[in-house]
Amino acid sequence: MKRLLLLGGGHAHLQVMRAFANEAVPAAELTLVTPYPRLTYSGMVPGHVAGHYSLEQCSVPLAPMAERAGVRLLQGAATAIDTARRSVTLADGRSLPYDVLSLDIGATVDRDAIPGAREHGLFVRPIEAFTQLWSRMAELGRERALCVVVVGGGAAGVELALAIHHTLGERSHVSLVTGGGVPLPSHPPSVQRRALKALKRRNVTVLEDTCAEISAEHVLLGRGTRVACDAAVVALGAAAPAWLHGSGLALDERGFVATGPTLQSSSHPEVFAAGDVATRSDDPHPKSGVYAVRAGAPLALNLRRFLAGGELQPYRPQRRALNLLACGERYAIASWGGWSAEGAWVWRWKDRIDRDFMRAHGGIG
Ligand SMILES: Cc1cc2nc3c(=O)[nH]c(=O)nc-3n(C[C@H](O)[C@H](O)[C@H](O)COP(=O)(O)OP(=O)(O)OC[C@H]3O[C@@H](n4cnc5c(N)ncnc54)[C@H](O)[C@@H]3O)c2cc1C
Repeated sequence: MKRLLLLGGGHAHLQVMRAFANEAVPAAELTLVTPYPRLTYSGMVPGHVAGHYSLEQCSVPLAPMAERAGVRLLQGAATAIDTARRSVTLADGRSLPYDVLSLDIGATVDRDAIPGAREHGLFVRPIEAFTQLWSRMAELGRERALCVVVVGGGAAGVELALAIHHTLGERSHVSLVTGGGVPLPSHPPSVQRRALKALKRRNVTVLEDTCAEISAEHVLLGRGTRVACDAAVVALGAAAPAWLHGSGLALDERGFVATGPTLQSSSHPEVFAAGDVATRSDDPHPKSGVYAVRAGAPLALNLRRFLAGGELQPYRPQRRALNLLACGERYAIASWGGWSAEGAWVWRWKDRIDRDFMRAHGGIG
């Protein structure tokens, strides 16, 4: 019997298990390794920080879906992959052999990218640790006014700055350090304008500068300004897990797993990868993570076919995707290619999509 090891209970593997629950995989031993028993849906985390959702509403337990899919669930975290021996080592020393390996372990944040961040930063990943730390911060924010600095001008940084402002209220102060340019550098100009307006309207100070250092009481900017700070939320871009370097897998220049159109590793056909941890070596504009949720179904199909010795199907990620940015209060910005819109109705739209996703995967929604 072939052993399929699913590493990481992320968005793609949740979809894989759903597909396997709908149509069983014959004659294979299926195992999922996950450090956490629940998957936290990052798209709803800014809504949780803003106070719109409980933590339970924005996470799904993995065990019921695993059971329906005939997948054995092991709690643990991988620390090494030996592609020559086809085995994965876990943090507790266990070694798991595999015939087919699928990686959906997401991305990390580089804890040493900014001096002092490791000691004083509140990192948005792992998201489970962030939500725990955030609940303590929110409690403190109910007792006294806080100065919060969000470091990172991407979508997560913008959404979190607005959410934090919404929940702490006007007596606290929230700043957003963008890294140099305008917030949302990879979004269309119309969305950048809408986001800037939203930040201004809600009194979030936008600092178009880099963050040079984080200390216990300040954030030091590249141009020398010191910003008072009780909590620095670090929402820098995705970084690849460093331990992949010893695996023998082909990696791109940033350390993400290089995959081809069938989601197989460019170097090891028995290894598949999807989501934030993977890049497409055939993509002229490689960007990790753009296909985490959508890659789930094609990943499931190709894993099933590979186990059965069938022909694999290439997966073409969408060029455009609907983008929905929560603005703290029940208000959001939508974009699709060059089109954009905003309003309370966009938030209701996002809310419905997110809750439907959660309910479809065993959450309470
Ligand atoms: C605040 C915030 C808001 C966001 N909002 C959106 C949004 O609205 N829309 C959007 O498309 N994207 C959003 N993102 C980005 C989104 O989170 C990622 O693109 C998405 O989670 C990628 O899914 P994934 O399956 O690759 O990994 P993840 O969902 O991160 O899952 C990876 C899993 O692997 C596990 N894992 C990690 N290391 C190991 C290990 N060593 N061994 C075993 N398991 C391991 C993790 O615990 C986790 O369960 C947001 C990100 C943040 C931080």
